[in-house]
Amino acid sequence: MTSVFALVDCNNFYASCEKLFRPDLRHTPVVVLSNNDGCVVARSKEAKTLGIKMGVPVHHIQSDIRRHKIQVFSSNYTLYGDMSRRVMVTLESLAPRVDVYSIDEAFLDLTGIDRVVSFEEFGCQVKNTIFRSVGLPVCVGIAPTRTLAKLANYSAKHYPATGGVVDLTDTARQRRLMARVPVEEVWGVGRKLSARLQAMGIETALDLADADPATVRKRFSVVLERTARELRGIACLAWEDAPPAKKQIMCSRSFGQPIQALSDLEEAVSHYTARATEKLRKGQLYAGELMVFIRTNPFRASVPQYSRSASVSLVSPTQDSRVITRQAMTLLRSLYRYGFDYAKAGVMLSELVDGTGLQSDLFEAPGEHNYSAERAARLMAVMDDINRKSRATVTMAREAGPGAYAMRRKHLSPAYTTSWKQLPDVY
Ligand SMILES: [Mg+2]
Repeated sequence: MTSVFALVDCNNFYASCEKLFRPDLRHTPVVVLSNNDGCVVARSKEAKTLGIKMGVPVHHIQSDIRRHKIQVFSSNYTLYGDMSRRVMVTLESLAPRVDVYSIDEAFLDLTGIDRVVSFEEFGCQVKNTIFRSVGLPVCVGIAPTRTLAKLANYSAKHYPATGGVVDLTDTARQRRLMARVPVEEVWGVGRKLSARLQAMGIETALDLADADPATVRKRFSVVLERTARELRGIACLAWEDAPPAKKQIMCSRSFGQPIQALSDLEEAVSHYTARATEKLRKGQLYAGELMVFIRTNPFRASVPQYSRSASVSLVSPTQDSRVITRQAMTLLRSLYRYGFDYAKAGVMLSELVDGTGLQSDLFEAPGEHNYSAERAARLMAVMDDINRKSRATVTMAREAGPGAYAMRRKHLSPAYTTSWKQLPDVY
C-alpha cells in the first residue's frame, strides 16, 4: 500500500491563541513579539494584510500600531505550549500515528484511510474537529510524501478557495501545483540553496522534481536528491532526516510502557533535549526559549489524568546542550507529580535565531553558566561527531540549575489555560 501523509498546520498560531481568549479582537490586527518585546514573530491575518512583516523590530512599526490600532502581545509560551498540547492530543485521537513537527504542525499517517472515507473528507473532519474542540483554525495538506504534504498545506494556506484542505494524492494535480510554486518554498530548500538552483535553471518545485537525480546528488547532496524524489511522490525521507523547523524544534515521543518515576522521565527528557539541540546545531541555530511537557494517556479514561507544560527563557540564545539540559531538568522537576502513569513527554526549542549578529554578544558575555562560548562550540561539535558515527550516544549528565530571570514582557496575556487565578472572564 502506498503511504499517505497529512500535514496539519495551525494558521497564525500565536496570534490565533491570543485571539481565542479575546473575542473582542476577532477582526482586529494582532501581532506577537519575540522575547524582551523585540521583533514581530506572529501576525494575524489582518496584520498581514496591513503589510506588517515577519521579524520587523516593534519600534519600526510604532506609527502603524497607532494608526491601525494593532493589538500587541508579548509572547506567552505557557499559553502556546498548552494550546499546542491540546491540538496534538486531539490529532492523536483522530489518526493512528502523529509525528509532532513543531509547536503548531504535525504529520499524520493516513495510509489506507481512504478505504473508509475520502482523503479530502478526512481532512475536513480534522479541520472541523480541531476548531470545535480547541478553537483554533488549521489547514490540512494530504499527499504521498511528507515533502508533498508540506506543499499541499502551502497551497491550502495560499488559496482560500481550497477551504483550507488540499488532497494532493493525484499526480496530475501535484504537477499543476508544483509548476506554480517557487523552488524556495520546497521543504528544506530555503533561500541559499534556491539561489544556486535558480542559477541552474531550476526555478519551480516542478523543475526540481524533474531534475536528473544523479546531477542533483553530485552538485548538491544526497538530501536534496531525496527531496527531489519525494516531489515525484516517492517517500524516501526518514523522519530523523526531516529538515529542522524554522521557528521551533520539537522532540517528543510516546513511551512504550507508562513511566511513573521522576528518574525515568528525566532520562527520557534529557534524551529528547539531546536530539533537539543536535538539530539546533545542525541548522546552525540558537534557541532563546525552552518548553517541556509531560502527560498521561488521555485515552485511558480509567487512570488519573495529568498533563502540564512549562517554559523558560534562556538568558542569551544558546545551542549548548549543557545549558539547555540543565534548564529542561529544572522545568521537568517543577512539572512532575507523583502517582501518575506518564505516557508521553517532549521538549521544544523556540525563539530560534541564526548565529549572525549574535556572535559578538555570545563571545563577550560569559553568560550565567560561565562556559566559554568558543570552548562550548568545540565540545558540542565533538559530541555531535561521536553521536553521528556511533549508535552509542554521548549525552549530558543531569544537573540542577537556577530558575528563570526577569524579562521584559509588557504586553503579556494571562495564562488563561494553566492558572486558576488567570481563567478568562466570561460575560
Ligand atoms: Mg502554522
